[in-house]
Amino acid sequence: MIIKNCLAFFIFFFFAFNLKAQKEILSKVDTLQLFSLYRNLHQHPELSGKEVETAQLLKGELKQLGFTIIDSLGFNSFAGILKNGNGPTVLYRTDMDGLPIKETTGAFYASTQTTMTEGWAIPVMHACGHDFHMSSWVGVARILSFSKKKWKGTVIFLAQSSEETGQGAKGVIHSNYFSTLPKPTYQLAIHDTPDLTSGTFGFCNKYSMAAVDMMNITIYGKGGHGAEPFKAIDPILLSANFITEIQSITSRNLAFNTPAVITVGAINGGTVGNIIPDKVELKLTIRTFSPESRLYVLKRIEEIGNYLALAAGLTENEFPTYNLLDMSIPAVYNAPKLGEDLKNSIQKSNSGYQIADVLPKMIGEDFGIYSNSTEIPSYLIWVGVSSTNEAKQQQSTSLHTSTFLPDYQTALPITVDAISNCIIDLLNKH
Ligand SMILES: [Zn+2]
Ligand SMILES: [Zn+2]
Repeated sequence: MIIKNCLAFFIFFFFAFNLKAQKEILSKVDTLQLFSLYRNLHQHPELSGKEVETAQLLKGELKQLGFTIIDSLGFNSFAGILKNGNGPTVLYRTDMDGLPIKETTGAFYASTQTTMTEGWAIPVMHACGHDFHMSSWVGVARILSFSKKKWKGTVIFLAQSSEETGQGAKGVIHSNYFSTLPKPTYQLAIHDTPDLTSGTFGFCNKYSMAAVDMMNITIYGKGGHGAEPFKAIDPILLSANFITEIQSITSRNLAFNTPAVITVGAINGGTVGNIIPDKVELKLTIRTFSPESRLYVLKRIEEIGNYLALAAGLTENEFPTYNLLDMSIPAVYNAPKLGEDLKNSIQKSNSGYQIADVLPKMIGEDFGIYSNSTEIPSYLIWVGVSSTNEAKQQQSTSLHTSTFLPDYQTALPITVDAISNCIIDLLNKH
């Protein structure tokens, strides 16, 4: 099976893309070894904050290539540094964590891994493709260490824990050792996507992924008999009005070109039909892009909740409570000028590689924390991992699903080639 797949890959690859460039990559990086690393990572996913074996494996790879390891960057995060004379510094981040999903891809290298959490065996899967990010990252590290004559400067390979919980990047920047890392001139990351086919790189300048906030709200009332609502203040009716009214923030308060999403994902209150409860609990997620629109939406949610409570007859000390959870992450902001340079490098790498301009997404990624806190030009590039073969393409679905299966045999060597060229070009810019 492995031999058949590999043979198909080589036939496709040599005919579809520039032969000379590919020969050069394959001579530098053992592609089969990279495929085996990918399958190994895919078979052994670890949940956020538990990426111990994964981090060990990646550290071993970088140490072999002469990188200096800086540990203790929060959770299991670490950095590998490779210095090669004077020049710019490029930081390239990979994430490492998997998700609590039972894989149903049917691949021979599918994960059967489980992890014990509170006495339960939880299935774990790389359903967001962080295994793909890690193997590309190792491939790029190999190319850079094998082609030191082509560049001068410093590269920081950052392996980040806990991206899925939004805690990893925060852990890195708040760790004691973060300030000991060289200051990057540029910062890069990739994210795989089944929305693009292998060989296509997605670019979205400026805000590309949303700022994420999670908020728990308690709406209070005055309980009573269901038959006598005039003697009570009904928090269920108040909650219903509130849920409807906060949708007017996006449709009536924000300008048409300022996107935001407010979703109430959970509402819990009451027990039976003839009792008006004292309170209702709501759980929200709020997605915005700019810091200004984020603060505005958060402020309007409180204003609407308070005024509706007042209108219902409650006093100030009975207004709703708004608990913004400690999971907020800022939007990913992609520096447009850096984006143009990266596009040029990818197109120069191989005329077969495609560039797609993609729209911003309301999903979150904590890579935004690095650029937000440092104002260093940063970019997160979408990398297509959907098979160009239509039958295979149908097998792969969205990120975070049990059937997500990147077309790694095509996408991995292309990604390694393109991203290493991007980094080499950035290092040679000064
Ligand atoms: Zn994810
Ligand atoms: Zn992800």
